[in-house]
Amino acid sequence: MSMNRAYNFGAGPAMLPNAVMDRIREEMGDWHGTGMSAMEMSHRGPEFTSIAEKAEADLRELMAIPADYKVLFLQGGATSQFAAIPLNICQPEDRADYLVSGYWSRKAAKESARFCRANIAMDTGPDGDRNIPGAEHWKLSDDAAFVHFADNETIGGVRFPFLPECTAPRISDMSSSILSGPVDVGDYGIIYAGAQKNIGPAGLTIVIIRDDLLGRQRKGVPTVMDYQKMAAAGSMLNTPPTFAWYAAGLVFEWLKEQGGLERMASRNQAKAELLYHAIDSSDFYSNPVDVSCRSLMNVPFILADASLDRQFLQQADDNGLKSLKGHRSIGGLRASIYNAIPYEGVDALVQFMSEFERVNG
Ligand code: PMP
Repeated sequence: MSMNRAYNFGAGPAMLPNAVMDRIREEMGDWHGTGMSAMEMSHRGPEFTSIAEKAEADLRELMAIPADYKVLFLQGGATSQFAAIPLNICQPEDRADYLVSGYWSRKAAKESARFCRANIAMDTGPDGDRNIPGAEHWKLSDDAAFVHFADNETIGGVRFPFLPECTAPRISDMSSSILSGPVDVGDYGIIYAGAQKNIGPAGLTIVIIRDDLLGRQRKGVPTVMDYQKMAAAGSMLNTPPTFAWYAAGLVFEWLKEQGGLERMASRNQAKAELLYHAIDSSDFYSNPVDVSCRSLMNVPFILADASLDRQFLQQADDNGLKSLKGHRSIGGLRASIYNAIPYEGVDALVQFMSEFERVNG
């Protein structure tokens, strides 16, 4: 890699693997001898069709997506899905259950309430979004059209540590955890994710939906949000986000070369352990989340003395450790350690933290 690459700990848009950036650069003006970039091609031409099909096939292979699921490559971000889900899965008078474990699932529930009877079956907010209580503490409806939860809360750094037990189809926002390790897709009615964390550039939104959930849309759902129409059109009812789809395909190829999602899971585990250990073994840094549900992807932490935040961020930045500022809603610091951050990147962060503590502690 000729470029000078930093370790970018941003939560999204996030760092992409160096090998993928190299491929994009190599293919930028001339994809496979066509004299065109992937971003300049007709989405209906044979070249882009091959790019699109390969990306889907590789994602299906990586996640072992069963044949009775469709994979949609959409726009609008995960936020568009907060509305698209009720519009496609239930009627205005239907109930849908929301398990709220942080900022994003709270937003999803709020948006859904505009389109159906969204029931907050669990909300960790009053306790500071630090722990996920067991199902005996939830108030699930017996007639819910679906149960929605966020597999990983990007801001609070809270991961759902078990599969919610429920009879209605599970719908999971995996924006910040998709591809970080294997999941059993068959456990879900819908998995969705904005691409800009663990998949590729912003602008692409992946929806993986079980076939029996297609065809439940209400009258009046906007055409570009209609899962059934999008599925029938191979996600090309209109122009899809072609460049982001292409780049996502390169990430999927890279993940296959790395050995697949089992391999990523063990790497991600090792990275997270290294960082949490550094935080827990010092009084200078802390993370408030219960150990049982700490995120492996997003690690928020605070300094005992918050007045040092600016200095920490500046010095980290000077050392090539970028975007460690916490989300504007809660402040503090946060390291997002998605697939593209190597172990060495987390090690560099931990060493920096230790040195910063030595000087300022
Ligand atoms: N859900 C989660 C878990 C997220 O982390 C984010 C983005 N940070 C969103 C939803 C919203 O995604 P988008 O910006 O793609 O709409």
